[in-house]
Amino acid sequence: MHRISRIHEISVPLEGDVTNAVVNFSAHDVSLVAVVSNVIKQGRPVTGYGFNSIGRFAQRGILHERMIPRVLAADPALLLTEDEVFFDPALIFSVAMENEKPGGHGDRASALAALELAVWDLNAKLADEPAWSWIAKCTGTRVDQLEVPTYAAGGYYYSTDSLARLQQELQGYRDLGFDAFKIKIGGANLDTDLERIDAAVEIAGAGERVAVDANGRFNTETAIKYLESMSARSLRWFEEPGDPLDFELMNQLAQITRMPLATGENLFSLQDVRNLLRYGGMKPGRDIFQMDAGLSYGLTEYIKMLSELESAGMNRAQCFPHGGHLINLHIAAGLNLGGCEAYPGVFGPFGGFSPACELSDGKVTPSEAPGFGLEQKLELKPYIEKLQEAI
Ligand code: MG
Repeated sequence: MHRISRIHEISVPLEGDVTNAVVNFSAHDVSLVAVVSNVIKQGRPVTGYGFNSIGRFAQRGILHERMIPRVLAADPALLLTEDEVFFDPALIFSVAMENEKPGGHGDRASALAALELAVWDLNAKLADEPAWSWIAKCTGTRVDQLEVPTYAAGGYYYSTDSLARLQQELQGYRDLGFDAFKIKIGGANLDTDLERIDAAVEIAGAGERVAVDANGRFNTETAIKYLESMSARSLRWFEEPGDPLDFELMNQLAQITRMPLATGENLFSLQDVRNLLRYGGMKPGRDIFQMDAGLSYGLTEYIKMLSELESAGMNRAQCFPHGGHLINLHIAAGLNLGGCEAYPGVFGPFGGFSPACELSDGKVTPSEAPGFGLEQKLELKPYIEKLQEAI
């Protein structure tokens, strides 16, 4: 019988001494998880890899002390799909969450995400398919286009910041083949931020190609002031103007804005998304949802979020998961989402795609490697090899 024989986790430091309006990323790390099966292909156990959301912290305590022991102690037959060939992510989710109370969706949501996403990678490898194809199959999604619209996220505040440096950075993304961008706001005063926005629009060629992200920094009054000052510029979207759980703030902005609003990257659960839909004033066809499976219990929960959005009249084209990396690229392709982001040059070794992925005209095509193709990402290779040594 197929079974999970071992689960390993290592904490990998995030590379990037950059700052948004709220945090500096240099102290962050990420949990890279290996779920090892007893199925042998080409002389090695088939192994799935996953990691939690970048821009936060590794979750070694919750994984090693609570979730991994629960999964390994479970009856292996209870973790399999009906055909007994694949591992059922929803069943593994339930076992890993045994004795956890409802609510309090904090760090455990990203701990479970790393583990659950590794199970999706494992299943796709057992099926010998790229993850996007496996995800589409499991969810009955017809993939309209494999090329995923992708924007380059950057425009952070650096200690030696300047408009020329920002323009140089965005020009570099243009040269790589990106045609849409996102920059940070809220880390400087309004006048400086407006200068930064104008400098970015100059390189992008149009306001519609530049989104701005305040990372939850503003109160309602400041958010409205920024909104009013930016409104003539026809920007792509205004992301996380205020605290991610301040749905009343979103609602107030949603009533007056002409600019799309974006949020969701700091919602940890289906229930958070329900509350955003109930109270945040988000508009069908206009606003952007950025929930990230790596932060919110994994893909099983993300798929439930999607159906909640659709029940509320939203559509998948409004979804751009946070986190510019291979896992979310495959999720965006396999679920027909609006697109995903990319962080060229920052947030290694996780951020960015592999050389096997094609980028042209602002669209990225995942490779045909089985699973999420993390093994093809050169910067991740040493860490995957470290996990393989433990296997
Ligand atoms: Mg953001």
